[in-house]
Amino acid sequence: MGLQYGCLFPASFTSPKTAFTFAVLDDFLLDNLECRTSAMNYYSKLRRITSSVFPHLVPDRYRELMRVGRQWRQVKQLKWHGFGHEKRKLKAGELALFCPACPQPSVNLSMSDRNRSDPAWLYLRSLVMDGNFKAEHLHPTNPTNEVALTDGLGFMVSDARYKMHLSQVQDIVQRSDCNNHRVVNQANASCHRLEATGIGGCACARHGCFVPHSMVDFQKGERQMNMDYALCQALGYNTDGIDWALTFYDINCQYNKHLSKRIEDSPYLDLPWGMEIIPGIGLWHVHGHQDKCYVRYASNFITGATRIDGEIMETLWAPLNIISPSARGMSTPHRKECLDFQMNDCNFIKMIHISEQYHVIQLANSNAFRQIPLPKI
Ligand SMILES: [Zn+2]
Ligand SMILES: [Zn+2]
Repeated sequence: MGLQYGCLFPASFTSPKTAFTFAVLDDFLLDNLECRTSAMNYYSKLRRITSSVFPHLVPDRYRELMRVGRQWRQVKQLKWHGFGHEKRKLKAGELALFCPACPQPSVNLSMSDRNRSDPAWLYLRSLVMDGNFKAEHLHPTNPTNEVALTDGLGFMVSDARYKMHLSQVQDIVQRSDCNNHRVVNQANASCHRLEATGIGGCACARHGCFVPHSMVDFQKGERQMNMDYALCQALGYNTDGIDWALTFYDINCQYNKHLSKRIEDSPYLDLPWGMEIIPGIGLWHVHGHQDKCYVRYASNFITGATRIDGEIMETLWAPLNIISPSARGMSTPHRKECLDFQMNDCNFIKMIHISEQYHVIQLANSNAFRQIPLPKI
């Protein structure tokens, strides 16, 4: 495997004795993406390919594969995002893809071409916020030895600034004037063995693409301080000139009440100038609320929300949950890189298939499609 490339990647840059072929590293990354194979399982497989009868006699290069696998992933991501020979320091979220269909000024839309009479909802940023308690992380065994390769460049937020936000914000639990949803969101709130009890963040509500640099770790259940940071980061991503943001969150009737005050109070939280937030609740969760919440927060009654259920994040967690058990014991930066890579691939797959969906819509609108006779019942 890999001889067709003839290219080798050294396991060490100072005194190389072991090398991996480019092909085996590509294969490992793809196996990790598609089959969620951990480095341990992959290396066991390589040993068995090398010697089917005595795999235990094949030299153990698991540690080398783990290190080189991370470096290879970083190099690949830099190349894919156009930073192969770029010297400048990368900005937050620059190694991540976002949605090709959501309006993004200066990416897929020119605000100068915008017709003044267009309604604001035409240029709406719609987001779903949610938490995931499967993506846990154990305390690192050797925290001083950890090296971050792509801190803050993908979907997980930059570590230092997020920690500063958490250290200065007060955790105030407000009384709920709706049903008591906090009970659900504080699930597994106290697990001392865990450095992170889960992750939370935002995706675009219509197409389900994770928003770059908007995923945060939870330290004690799903607290407002965590989601505030994720939301502000997501709303700041390519939204220059967008006036409205529609947010879906399962407890938005409570969460949104004092959001502007919390943003005002924290130096680490801000919203794009002039942006108005329209709160919504997903169509499945809204039925767990009091009746007054249904008419106020269900997407059916929000102008410009279109037919949207606001629950798409649940479908995004499912594939991510398969990788979570192996990411649980990784070093802190390695786990984040692994989650970033999975989320980026999820967005990439959507990006390459979205044109098919566009084609189906075009076909549905065309006369040719209408001329197909309906089956007689
Ligand atoms: Zn989108
Ligand atoms: Zn409610």
